[in-house]
Amino acid sequence: MTLTPLGLDPTLCFIGGAWVRSSASTCLALINPSDGSALCEIACGSENDVDRAVQAATSALQGEWGKATAAERGRVLAKIGQGVLANVEELTQLEAMDVGKPLKQARADVIALARYMEFYAGACDKVHGETIPYLEGYTVYTLREPHGVTGHIIPWNYPMQIIGRSVGAALAMGNATVLKPAEEACLTALAFAEIARRAGLPDGALNVVPGLGAEAGAALTRHPGVHHVSFTGSVGVGKLIQETTARNVVPVTLELGGKSPQLVFDDADIDAALPFLVNAGIQNAGQTCSAASRILVQRGVYARVVAQMGKRYDGFRVGPALEDLDLGPLISARQKSIVEGYLAQADGLEVVGKGRIVADAPTNGAYVAPTLFAGVRADHVLAQEEIFGPVQVIIPFDTEEEAVQIANGTDFGLVAAVWSQNGARQMRLAKQLRAGQVFLNNYGAGGGVELPFGGTGLSGHGREKGFEALYGFSTLKTVAAFHG
Ligand code: ADP
Repeated sequence: MTLTPLGLDPTLCFIGGAWVRSSASTCLALINPSDGSALCEIACGSENDVDRAVQAATSALQGEWGKATAAERGRVLAKIGQGVLANVEELTQLEAMDVGKPLKQARADVIALARYMEFYAGACDKVHGETIPYLEGYTVYTLREPHGVTGHIIPWNYPMQIIGRSVGAALAMGNATVLKPAEEACLTALAFAEIARRAGLPDGALNVVPGLGAEAGAALTRHPGVHHVSFTGSVGVGKLIQETTARNVVPVTLELGGKSPQLVFDDADIDAALPFLVNAGIQNAGQTCSAASRILVQRGVYARVVAQMGKRYDGFRVGPALEDLDLGPLISARQKSIVEGYLAQADGLEVVGKGRIVADAPTNGAYVAPTLFAGVRADHVLAQEEIFGPVQVIIPFDTEEEAVQIANGTDFGLVAAVWSQNGARQMRLAKQLRAGQVFLNNYGAGGGVELPFGGTGLSGHGREKGFEALYGFSTLKTVAAFHG
């Protein structure tokens, strides 16, 4: 089977506004995780391709894109958003086949991508500098300017959402971008480039070079023509990228996942909390940076939460993405074996809920039944490490202090939630929890394109999403004029 996203040849790279062949002699196979079959081949971008892309981006900054006004940038981003919406069904199908997402999740990602483009389209002409009162005879003001060429290395779990928050914000500030999608899933990145081309995005403002992380990704991070790198992915690669970009003294935004907790207190509205407690664990089969993989529950409601979460888990069905069940497969056989490796360390833990893989699921699909463990010690490996699969642990606690200590007791700090009716406690914990986002009586706020997102500790640094991202994707110049 060969897929043609928006009629394209998926083995091509998008460089300088044109679809071009990679200089590498080989291609990479893209696997459908629902059945293990080959979907199509994609380019295996080389150092040379990355160099061509960086050169195209550099030329774009000197040409039409660099000269575009903020309002013109906004107009073209808005058109890209409309183009995304005009292709919802095709993008949904591509993402479902490529990533293994159930159709409804894939569709939600398409809508989120369009929302990012709408949001950043509207934001382009609303970022401005300041005037600063200074010494007699001076006028001082600041200018927000693009970094120049920005590199974007994204993972396979939410390609469209991460393109939206990363490339969308970078383009809004007038950067010219080079995108290296993940080798496991890149079809919607290619389709996005074609949508941007048709919307009239000037040549070179967006370039897409698919390929291997250690080749195309590494070439992009060390390229001297790149002025900012944003990366979403694993902690190990994030550290490598921070080291590599340090050599060129280039700023980097890192979003590296987490072990995010939801804290459920005795006075919580349990019925309201339940869908958030489980969905934040099983969404995208748990392959979500902000997955709530730890559920901390106070003793008074512990038995009830365990029973009700377990019941929901027992009803979950896992199967091919196109069957649109509760969960699809994991991204790959490799990811499946990583998750199974964690499950093998669950010896002695109590399984209180388990979903089921449907009977007709192809045997070569990367399926893992979602599993809920209760009574887990806070220092257990399943409660400490990011599993990136449909596994949640429930940890009991007695006091608020203990809950905070457990919540903050990992190396990560991405997201946290507090379920409690006590307003003072909500405010206290919002300050005490170590996380880039804290949700009070909700989790994830429905995606929140507008809400700054990013972590602390091993979860990374820098903020994407919302208006805040525009500061990260720009640099500040201070102009001091002496006029006497
Ligand atoms: P995962 O383990 O979840 O696949 P990775 O961190 O390995 O996450 O991958 C995320 C992205 O980083 C992918 O696009 C991948 O190709 C890229 N990548 C992997 N290794 C490197 C590297 N050494 N340099 C730059 N990018 C890399």
